[in-house]
Amino acid sequence: MLCGAGAGDAGLLGARAARWLARADVVVHDRLVSADVLALVPEQAELIDVGKRPGAPRRAQQDIHALLIDRARAGKLVVRLKGGDPFVFGRGGEEAEALRAAGVPYRVVPGVTAALAAAADADVPLTDRRRAASVTLLTARETPDKPSPTLDWSALARLDTLVIYMSVGALETVVRRLIDAGRSAATPAAAVERAGTSRSRTIRATLAALPARARAARLAAPAVLIVGPTAAQPQPAAAASPLAGQTVLV
Ligand code: SAH
Repeated sequence: MLCGAGAGDAGLLGARAARWLARADVVVHDRLVSADVLALVPEQAELIDVGKRPGAPRRAQQDIHALLIDRARAGKLVVRLKGGDPFVFGRGGEEAEALRAAGVPYRVVPGVTAALAAAADADVPLTDRRRAASVTLLTARETPDKPSPTLDWSALARLDTLVIYMSVGALETVVRRLIDAGRSAATPAAAVERAGTSRSRTIRATLAALPARARAARLAAPAVLIVGPTAAQPQPAAAASPLAGQTVLV
């Protein structure tokens, strides 16, 4: 099973993923899967962490494929658990391909991807029929083994809402590319850190001002950057204050 754990803590783990997790013989997970999701893994199951750790050599993708195939061929119910959704920047596609090539049957269980968790935490509607008819998910980091980069910044600069993954280390570069490609420097932007957790934090600024604001606030991974007309601070509700619009003479 290629399962999404949802972004952040166990609150965004779907019921379907939780059901498979409860039946798993083997759980192979990434670093982004939170401890409270891992606490749901049955005691007798084999728990394997294949996450990348800063400083440590990362486990080769080929080794992960071999591991999944090996355990599945031994007749185990293997749950490959990924943060967010397995098919959004999760290399789930590569793993599915490897399983297919090996003749191992699998299913995919979606999870709440970071873009959606971040939008909810920041109170940013990713689409809005008046202002944003499209939303685009992209990564600031393209794999270095690709022959040529595929991100077309001048096309991206013309789109409504962008949600940029893996962008913390590349914030300056991403913002410069967008502005150089014609996106207005005044476009609202929001960086959302640890979306889907109780420690979620949103930093809002114009596109041009966001990198400095994020640096000052020590924005740290995991975070996504949302750029677009709906990313501005939500207006306080008119009804929030009972005396709004009244003049009071004392
Ligand atoms: N499959 C995952 C994405 C994995 S790529 C998903 O669907 O969400 C890793 C990137 O996802 C991080 O660099 C960050 O940009 C984003 N991310 C993952 N979890 C996040 C979280 N809780 N809050 C904000 N961004 C997150």
